[in-house]
Order: sequence, then C-alpha cells, then structure tokens
Amino acid sequence: MNRQIYLDNAATTRVSPEVLEAMMPYLTDLYGNPSSIYQLGGKSKVAIENAREVVADSIGAERKEIFFTSGGSEADNWAIKGVAEAYGAKGNHIITSKIEHHAVLHTCEYLEKNGFEVTYLDVDENGFISLEALESAITDRTILISIMFANNEIGTIQPIEEIGRIAKERGVLFHTDAVQALGVLPIDVNQMNIDLLSLSGHKIHAMKGVGALYIRSGIKLPNLIHGGAQERRRRAGTENVAAIVGLAKAVERSTDDREARNAKLTTLRDYLIERLTTEIEEVRLNGDPIRRLPNNVNLCFRYIEGESLLLMLDMEGICASSGSACTSGSLDPSHVLLAIGLPHEIAHGSLRLSLGEENTEQELDYVVERLKEIVQRLRDMSPLYQRK
Ligand SMILES: *Cc1c(COP(=O)(O)O)cnc(C)c1O
Repeated sequence: MNRQIYLDNAATTRVSPEVLEAMMPYLTDLYGNPSSIYQLGGKSKVAIENAREVVADSIGAERKEIFFTSGGSEADNWAIKGVAEAYGAKGNHIITSKIEHHAVLHTCEYLEKNGFEVTYLDVDENGFISLEALESAITDRTILISIMFANNEIGTIQPIEEIGRIAKERGVLFHTDAVQALGVLPIDVNQMNIDLLSLSGHKIHAMKGVGALYIRSGIKLPNLIHGGAQERRRRAGTENVAAIVGLAKAVERSTDDREARNAKLTTLRDYLIERLTTEIEEVRLNGDPIRRLPNNVNLCFRYIEGESLLLMLDMEGICASSGSACTSGSLDPSHVLLAIGLPHEIAHGSLRLSLGEENTEQELDYVVERLKEIVQRLRDMSPLYQRK
C-alpha cells in the first residue's frame, strides 16, 4: 500500500506551491548577492526588504525590528543569550517554563553553567503557567521572561497578553517562541508587550533553515553570528534570499485565510479526538481541550509504548510523532508530558497527531481504524495489560 497520510505538521510542513513559485526566481535568474551594488544584487536586496515588511506587518512590528535567521532555534538562542550578555550587569536571573522547546531550555541550561540563575516555572495539568507564580518569581535581578506562545507537543496556548503586561509592569524583557503560533493565532507585539519573538519558516509551509527574530527597537542585543554587515550589522552571513522570500509568502498565505483554515482544522481536530477517545478505551487527551492549537491532537494510550505505536503507524503509511521530533530516537518520555504531571509509564504511551490543511475526514477515518487495530494488537502483547 502506497498511501501516505501526513499528520506531523508540528514537526515540519510541506513547502506550498505558492511558496515554491515565489522562491523560484531567486533560485534561478535572480541569484545576485544582496550586498552587491549592481542591479542584479539590488533585486535580491529589494526582495529581502519586501519580505521583511510582510513579516513585520504580520505581527504588528516595524520593518527594522525584523532580523532573518537560520530558523527558530537560532532566533531563540539569539534572544536569550543576547539578553543575558547585554543585560547581565543589571541582573542574572531568567524565568522560563518547564515545557519550552529545547532551543529555549538547553540555552537556559547553558547559561546556568555560566553564572545565570534560571527559574523553570511549573505548569498545571493542562500545560498553563500560573501568572501568580510568574509574578512571585520576578526579583530585581530578573532580566528576561521567556514563555512560548503555544506548545509544540500538547498545543496549549499561554496567556501571552497577561504575561506581557506583567513583564512590562515589572520592567522585565519578554521573549516568546511563537514558532507554532505564527499564522495560526493573531499576534500583535505592541498590544501583547512582546519585546522579542522567534519564528520559523518550515512550520508554516516555507523552507527549513529560515526564520526570524523580532527585536523591539531600543533593545540592543550583541550579535550571535559575527562577520559581514548583513541584517543591519546584527546578523552576519549572506542572506538566504530565496528562503526569505518564501518565508514572507508563507506568512502572507497563512495570515490571509487564517479564520477559515482554523475553523476547518478545529473541526477535523475535534472529530479525531472525539472518535479516538470514545472508540478506544484508556486513552487520555493531553493539553487543554479548548485553549489549544487548532491542529494539535496529543493522546496517551495506556499499556503501550509510543515508539511501537509510531512504527506500526508508519507501516500503514501514517506519519506521526510521539512528542517532539527532537526527542524521538531517545527513550526518555517527553519533558512536556512529565511537566503536566503524567507518570513515566503513561507518558511513554503518547502520540501526537498534528493536522494540516490538506488532511481530510476520510484520511482521519482511516487513521482511526488503523489505530484501533494497532492499539489492540500492542495491548494484547503487553503483560501489563493482561494483568490489569
Ligand atoms: C520547530 C520549533 C522550533 C525550532 O525551529 P527550527 O526552525 O526548526 O530551528 C522552536 N520552537 C518551537 C516551538 C518549534 O516548534
């Protein structure tokens, strides 16, 4: 059977035809270096500046506040290490949460080895941080709050506007990893008091290896990448022109028909959750039932190993994930599922299905039928299930 059903859009997405079409000229005839002074170079330069405008508009920022990077991970690294370096004299304390992406968590752990103190806020059983806990964690040495907009594993959407208000009141910078939120949820960096925001192309149907960091004007971060004078001297390296043009096209597309696409995805998501949680026993939904990304389904099946589930789904042509792509291959259960309070043995049986706009109800019916068979087969082999 050659059927393939892709349900791992939180890991990466297919480059859309419109994005590819927008990129094509810059992969062929318009190959000039944007820093060159002749017209061929100038065309690349103009393309980048137009793209910067589109990306800025989509989050209510100004063009000069957008800096293109190699992706979400670089943007997270730059934001956090940059604030640590630039504001280290003011204080050495950073606040984040236990369910951040590893690009944030591992950067914070790195800084801890270099004299910084990091508070990793707990989350409740649905994955929300507590605003009271955030407030009381702030000290006069706190220089940064870094809380993700929406979680990549369980889809929980944090109260970003409230976090921004607290950060502003207390005079602390606020960074948010908005990789999963961009193009899905409305974002306004001014209304939400966001000072730094990370975004990535490949989660919204642009290419892998391109992203951006929004840096509110007035905030001076040291460079992460040193070299030439690109990106207004803040981020060196010849620009990935085609990928940047594609990123802007993807941003434009995703914000244009956001409402309709979200409505469609929410219907598909709730249909899948409803069927799986009623037709299979001992299943739990992880994350908040309502304040979650419209395309995110995350479930735990008791008495089952997530890895076995994924392999068997793969044999049926279904691409899914057990948590984040970064942890697959390791046998540790997801740090996010542990943080929402699941015991190891339950967290091990997790499955994330992240939908895309091209998925259909027929595909989901096929997935439900296969999952019912696979879960039963795995449980029949499980000594724990036999003994229950
Ligand atoms: C994918 C992802 C990243 C990393 O982005 P890359 O462009 O792959 O480096 C960071 N944060 C979140 C929430 C993500 O989902």
